[in-house]
Amino acid sequence: MQQPFCRTYPPSRGLSDESSQATRATATGSAERQSSTPPPRYQKKKLFCAGCEKHVQYFKFRRHLTVCCPDLLPTGRWPGEEQASDAARTAEDIKKKEVLRLRFEIGLTEEQVAEDLHITTTRVRSMVRKASLEIPLVRDAIPLQVIYEDEWMLVVDKPPGIRFHPKHRFEGGSLLNRVLYHFQDTAVPYIVHRLDMDTSGVAVFAKSSHAANLISEQFRQKHVQKEYVALCAGASVAPHFQVDAPIGKSPHGGIAMAVGETGKAACTDCSVLATGNWHGQPVAVVSARPHTGRTHQIRVHLAHAGLPILGDPIYLPDELRAEDPPRETDLPDAGRHALHAARLSFVHPSTEQRMTFCAPLSMDLQGMASSLALQEGVQEFCDVISHYDS
Ligand SMILES: [Zn+2]
Repeated sequence: MQQPFCRTYPPSRGLSDESSQATRATATGSAERQSSTPPPRYQKKKLFCAGCEKHVQYFKFRRHLTVCCPDLLPTGRWPGEEQASDAARTAEDIKKKEVLRLRFEIGLTEEQVAEDLHITTTRVRSMVRKASLEIPLVRDAIPLQVIYEDEWMLVVDKPPGIRFHPKHRFEGGSLLNRVLYHFQDTAVPYIVHRLDMDTSGVAVFAKSSHAANLISEQFRQKHVQKEYVALCAGASVAPHFQVDAPIGKSPHGGIAMAVGETGKAACTDCSVLATGNWHGQPVAVVSARPHTGRTHQIRVHLAHAGLPILGDPIYLPDELRAEDPPRETDLPDAGRHALHAARLSFVHPSTEQRMTFCAPLSMDLQGMASSLALQEGVQEFCDVISHYDS
């Protein structure tokens, strides 16, 4: 059985008073003196910790190991920092295999594995997470609608009905899996923003962590201009209006969001581009420019303003939904919420020029606008966005 660390090895500086005194009393051997005070050439050196995969300062390494992953401490006499780092790496590999076997072959829970191996649940979770990151992502051989591409980024027109990224590493079917196929091995896609599964339109991927940081920062600083077009039920009292209402989790639970006092600040500028009438039910084409990026922001804000998006499975009131089978007078339904990311504008990470990317309204929504006799409003919108600053 492994002895408690402080009793087995000469403690480094800063350990408990009792053990420090013990060190002072016995530190006459040169090996012991060396291990408690590293020679100057080692002071800047860093050693790899297999437990957390961080590089730790040489003279803090032993103490780090005792806190981070005591199960990786070498048994017996402390062999020296480098040897301990190597031994911890080997021990971690063996332990990881055992954790994965117990977790996935035997089917124990993370807590049971931790108890079995006398390690913390945090260590088990970390090992399972690291193992899952080693599973290569699926590449879907499906062509992309490329809007723009250079060595820094890729801008595509996302089709409706596919996820932005997969739920699990071992499954495909998302936009990211198509981008991986498109890149082959020339770049790694970095996600800098997301669109809902059923939203179509402009989506951007960075090609390096540096480009990703520069673009993400613009999203964080709210310097990215976003514009969406939505086909809605209802009528607005004003052609231009702003919805400034906090959004949080819906009290009804699930994935629904709702406007509420306890939510996070959210603001959307809206313009009504065209209005129409469908068997007595007012309909409209609305452009929405969100200033914040809350979950479901445009869908929630438009519903809050009395203009719920057609086909929205969550925020469209029941009385506006089509019957099954649909009656002639029922509002058309594209099988998804009628929301399209039409324009995205941000500063190029390298040239520092502001660039604007537009995606024409997807075919399914064009058909829907046409059956609602709203295609003129949509066309007007497309003309407007194509004349934005670039
Ligand atoms: Zn560590």
